[in-house]
Amino acid sequence: MSCNGKKGGEDVDFGLTKANEEMILSLIRSGRIPHTVIIEGGGAEERAGAATLLATGAICKEAERPCLSCTACRKVLAGSHPDMFLPKPSESLKTGILSLKELRDKYLSGISVKPNEADIKVYIFSEADKLLREDAQNALLKTIEEPPQRLLFIFTTESAKHLLLTVRSRARILTLSNKELTDEESTEAARSLIAGIVSLYEYDLLQALFRLDDKEKLTAALTVLTEKLRAALGFYSGIRTEDEDVKRLTRKLDRGRVIALIEVTGDTLGKLKTNVNMQLLTTWLCSQYRRLTWQK
Ligand SMILES: [Zn+2]
Repeated sequence: MSCNGKKGGEDVDFGLTKANEEMILSLIRSGRIPHTVIIEGGGAEERAGAATLLATGAICKEAERPCLSCTACRKVLAGSHPDMFLPKPSESLKTGILSLKELRDKYLSGISVKPNEADIKVYIFSEADKLLREDAQNALLKTIEEPPQRLLFIFTTESAKHLLLTVRSRARILTLSNKELTDEESTEAARSLIAGIVSLYEYDLLQALFRLDDKEKLTAALTVLTEKLRAALGFYSGIRTEDEDVKRLTRKLDRGRVIALIEVTGDTLGKLKTNVNMQLLTTWLCSQYRRLTWQK
């Protein structure tokens, strides 16, 4: 994700699909992050990325959280924020299991101590079903049931079912979804959009758009479409192309119209990151494309 256009910010890749990133961000922006969150589904790396994103959102104090560029964000991303804890068994124990004693001595004993720099303390129990045996999960229960102010527990696991029901039942479960369009599907969808844009019949475009009925699909297709539109722009500057989709665009549209289409597509990609009504957005986009393509 980008850093809200802020200066000095860098792009940080959390390894998440747009939809999964959006799910975490909307939880952060709701301002109501629960005390205990279980992140399940996806691959282990995606879960880790989601946990880090959620942690930056909880710890960052900027208005647009997470900004990913303030000192706090950078510390979280580097894994060095004093209020973020990543419980792990000590190196000497090769079991990968955090013992009850270690959990108590190293982590639980200081749990009600106020945060150092942030307004909250965040504990990420990574792959918690493997890290914490039943006794350790039970030991966490008391805190989960009556959490001190400003505390966030994040558990990642392949499936929340692998954790104790008592833990699970008190947590907000976020399920990462795997359904991202393949590159081929996105290209195919973008091709239908182009056919719709240059078609005489508005219906063709509407149909192509309505097939992209969730944010993720539409985002993927519009991203490919943008690439094709940019290639079309290159064509007007003398860059040859063998791409049939691009040729199709350049046969129908002049340079000014292509630029306008890139702009409106960019606006739409921005709107897709917000809590937008898909049907209204699709209808709006269709009318914009039609207007820009066909107006004299
Ligand atoms: Zn920040």
